[in-house]
Amino acid sequence: MRGLYIDGSWRTNDTERRPVTDPGTGEVIDRAVEASVGDVRAAIAAARSAFDDGGWSYTDPARRAEVLRGLAAGLVRDRDEVARLETLDTGKTVAESHADIEDSVAVLRYYAEIGAGEAPGAIALPRPSVTSIVTREPVGVCALICPWNYPLLQLTWKLAPALVAGNTIVAKPSELTPLTTSKLFELLDELDLPAGVANLVLGAGQPVGHELVASPDVDLVSFTGGLVTGKMVMREAAVNVKRVALELGGKNPNIVFADADIDAAVDNALTAAFVHAGQVCSAGARLMVEAPLHDRFVDALVDRAAKIRLGNGFDDATQMGPVISAAHRDKVDGHVQRGVAEGATLALGGRPPDDDHLQGGFFYLPTVLVDCDDDLNVVREEIFGPVVTVERFATEDEVVRRANATIYGLAGAVWTADADRARAVARALRLGTVWINDYHPYLPHAEWGGFKQSGSGRELGRLGLEEYCETKHVYRNESPAPTGWFDG
Ligand code: NAD
Repeated sequence: MRGLYIDGSWRTNDTERRPVTDPGTGEVIDRAVEASVGDVRAAIAAARSAFDDGGWSYTDPARRAEVLRGLAAGLVRDRDEVARLETLDTGKTVAESHADIEDSVAVLRYYAEIGAGEAPGAIALPRPSVTSIVTREPVGVCALICPWNYPLLQLTWKLAPALVAGNTIVAKPSELTPLTTSKLFELLDELDLPAGVANLVLGAGQPVGHELVASPDVDLVSFTGGLVTGKMVMREAAVNVKRVALELGGKNPNIVFADADIDAAVDNALTAAFVHAGQVCSAGARLMVEAPLHDRFVDALVDRAAKIRLGNGFDDATQMGPVISAAHRDKVDGHVQRGVAEGATLALGGRPPDDDHLQGGFFYLPTVLVDCDDDLNVVREEIFGPVVTVERFATEDEVVRRANATIYGLAGAVWTADADRARAVARALRLGTVWINDYHPYLPHAEWGGFKQSGSGRELGRLGLEEYCETKHVYRNESPAPTGWFDG
């Protein structure tokens, strides 16, 4: 059973337990305490007093960095257990879960490194009796609200900069995936963190997430999730002018010119669209192929996508796991059927698999929709499943214009042998991340986030640390004197 972690100790309550379901089998594998509004308030109060008493925010940053290093070491020590839990939570393959752990460890170590080394900035002024120093201070109590697709990774992207900057936190994973977040708090519990610095609440968006967003005692909300929820969070946080960082959805163009290395581009188009069954905010779900290459490319893509082995994440032979839930599978299917009704041609998939051994889990076949136009809903909306739409284009200007004609702006790629064209297209795309002749890598030092309605603010990199800092200007006059302003 998974409990709440409030003010340095594990807690439970007498509300009904929420079942935790393994998407690979459909079986209930654990139960989680559902936080009450009172529990959330207790967690916020613990974080508030841990912040206000100054113990953590005045701690030497090097000591705070040690906590991140300790957490990274715990993840490395317990990696097999953490990978097992992440696969149980999300259905992704164990290899993917291990990759997420490696990435989480890298992010924890990165922020341990840069967070401990932030120096105040002073500038020389013409008047020698004045010093002007700009310092970074923690924002205060931070609510960290996470989605179900990368529960461990998304939390570490927030927790590492928040803690190293001296904030206190209340974390909330998705109600569908509490396991690795809970394990992360077990590891934190080993680290001699002052009580109240890091708190965990479990439960649904209403009322648990809502309470975090609405509370006047929370100074910042860092939210990763869907666009509709993100807008609601922004609206609710505005009531007390809370700071908000939003990492939302995407409909990411993967643009292939005819001169691209076709084998590499096809192979990467598969990973772009089907890794973690397409439940990736930056999934290359919108493939755009230059006309002379289009038919050859689609044939190769469909041929390879048809061979992707679906299965349980614990089976070594599995290449693609299930989607998160039966409800989500129905939603994905609804998008596909609507796309076909609107004129797209189904080239592959478009339904759950027939295989007997896949009937318990929430599987959906890799799906390729061709003959797609910009105005189809299936091209415009985030599907968040193993579905790729394919469009044909004729010119560089046209593909840039069409790729940008969306409310989203998270990530995308351009495939071409022409370095000048790659640079020009990368510059013209209104996206937070552009990969050239690659898809999906991200790096701890490179800021991640969206243009337009894909979000506001950045995670990772130095700006990912800035999100959790207030900037203060301290002006000191060592020769105070009357100003003379109102004389006479
Ligand atoms: P979601 O919006 O349904 O839920 C996200 C989190 O918000 C969950 O913890 C949920 O319980 C909570 N929540 C729901 N209602 C709330 C409310 N009123 N107030 C506060 N919290 C509330 O998203 P999801 O389905 O869990 O995740 C999938 C979405 O996340 C996709 O759209 C995906 O693109 C996006 N995502 C974005 C990134 C990124 O880096 N941009 C990364 C991962 C996922």
